[in-house]
Amino acid sequence: MRELFVSCPTCGIKKPIMIPKEVFTKKECGSIKIHVPSGIVCSDHQFVVFIDQSGLVRGYEKIDLIMATPPQKENKKY
Ligand SMILES: [Zn+2]
Repeated sequence: MRELFVSCPTCGIKKPIMIPKEVFTKKECGSIKIHVPSGIVCSDHQFVVFIDQSGLVRGYEKIDLIMATPPQKENKKY
């Protein structure tokens, strides 16, 4: 596991996240994109972090819309 400090692109809160080393070894080229759900770094926002092969944060992407899980329909008894 590799520790990486990321900050929320919306409010700037900073926290370390743990990234499994396999992520870096599996990825041979291009940047690594990690989806950080709310509650991991920031309790209110979720975002995507772009990391390069050496583990440096290259950028962030805010998530504009989170699709809500549709409420489960109750099974009606006839
Ligand atoms: Zn935030």
